[in-house]
Amino acid sequence: MIRNQFIKPSDARSWLSCVKRVWFDNFPPDGSVTKISEFDQLIIDQGLAHEEVVLDQLSKSHTVHRALSIAHTRQLMEEGAEIIYQARLENLEESLIGSPDFLVRHGTGEYQPADAKLARSDEKKEIQVQLGCYRLMLGSTLPGIVFLGTGEQTEIGDEAIPLVDQFITGMRNLLDSDDPPVVRYTHSKCKICPYYLICKPDFETRDEITLVYGVDSRNAPHLNEAGITTMQQLADTDAEAIPDVPYLKGFEKKKKAVLQAQSWLTGEVYKLKDFELPSGTWIHFDVEDNPFEISGQKHVYLWGFLKPDYGVDAFEYSWTDTMADDKSGWEQFLKLIDKYRDEYQDLVIAHYSAHEVTTIKQYAKRYDMSSHHTVEWLLGDTTPLYDLQKPIFDNLVLPLQGYGLKDVCKHKGLVNFQWEDEESGSQWSIVQFIRFLKEKDSVKREKLKKDILGYNRDDVLATHSLEEWLRRLGDFPQN
Ligand code: SF4
Repeated sequence: MIRNQFIKPSDARSWLSCVKRVWFDNFPPDGSVTKISEFDQLIIDQGLAHEEVVLDQLSKSHTVHRALSIAHTRQLMEEGAEIIYQARLENLEESLIGSPDFLVRHGTGEYQPADAKLARSDEKKEIQVQLGCYRLMLGSTLPGIVFLGTGEQTEIGDEAIPLVDQFITGMRNLLDSDDPPVVRYTHSKCKICPYYLICKPDFETRDEITLVYGVDSRNAPHLNEAGITTMQQLADTDAEAIPDVPYLKGFEKKKKAVLQAQSWLTGEVYKLKDFELPSGTWIHFDVEDNPFEISGQKHVYLWGFLKPDYGVDAFEYSWTDTMADDKSGWEQFLKLIDKYRDEYQDLVIAHYSAHEVTTIKQYAKRYDMSSHHTVEWLLGDTTPLYDLQKPIFDNLVLPLQGYGLKDVCKHKGLVNFQWEDEESGSQWSIVQFIRFLKEKDSVKREKLKKDILGYNRDDVLATHSLEEWLRRLGDFPQN
């Protein structure tokens, strides 16, 4: 069936993430409720605020006309309006319809499309597709303009044409199809997708092999060619019999993939080898940062610790309200490290994943403090920092589809640590922090801060519970 559905450049984000998602966006499935998450709403609000800032700036030096329709946009262009805000464009030949934030009249009389984007560079493909589509709709030979979140201005030109062609052809095929495309499960995308509950039964019916952690669209087609098409088949396969395929080479990796399928199907935990955690006095450490800081730099507003005796009152932290105090928050963090170092000679500072170490490196660079004695110790050969995710990846196979802190800790058959606020998470924390920044009422502000601190405290309590669980598991014989 040919539907004559228009392609919208704003579909680029979904299209680049998952073709089934963009099909659902255009043909919403029965009963689907695509509720926008608080985090996505935050991104939308931040984007609109950025657009307002750009509009204000342009209005200071130009006459800006707001377009009300496609016909009105055309009329304003014919009249030679300097800048057209919220322009509406259509290209019937390509079945394209779109709304660039601005059309800017060039000296030659041609119009350049322009968008305000929160991004810090124009490398994102969705930006290239959108600006490229607007250029196509305008028939413009001039590059599109991007007003970045950093305050800089950049341009998208002919280099985006191949990607735009791919988008239009791909979208045309999708929109002409009566059925959603068959796609593979991708944990990072599906777990946050509003259509997950609609897709889940199909994945389960097909016993989709990419439900197995470590098997994805890069290696699954090659496993299929080798006759391994389902999770159960992978679980039943002798790892020695699996050929080397991209991203799944060598016996150890293949054995892990087979055990991963078995673990997911049976709930069993597999210990690959005996292991021990470092001895010493452990302090648990976790940071919270704001990626939407207007300066373009990440602001770590909270450096949190859990020290002995690991009760809820053993939580300590360094907090700063704004980027203006960023350096003092970092220095306070270093002072806390010095204090622990004085108190405990055999210090182990445990964190989960590489994020904390990356953050310390970024701050050392930001404040030119790589030679500071505490920074040198933290990042040197005898570092007390210890990534608790490493012994898991190295020694265990768990019945999980992802190995994030919450995946491992919340699982009732594993660590079974539950956060006080079930809704909380890293995106939740950012949303609460932005609310904190905007809140004028001091009582509500304090409540928001208390909630964020409670979340960070639970994160470090969780890594402590994880440490205890790993120690118990380390004592068990391997299977
Ligand atoms: S749940 Fe996954 S497969 Fe389904 S639409 Fe969303 S991202 Fe695509």
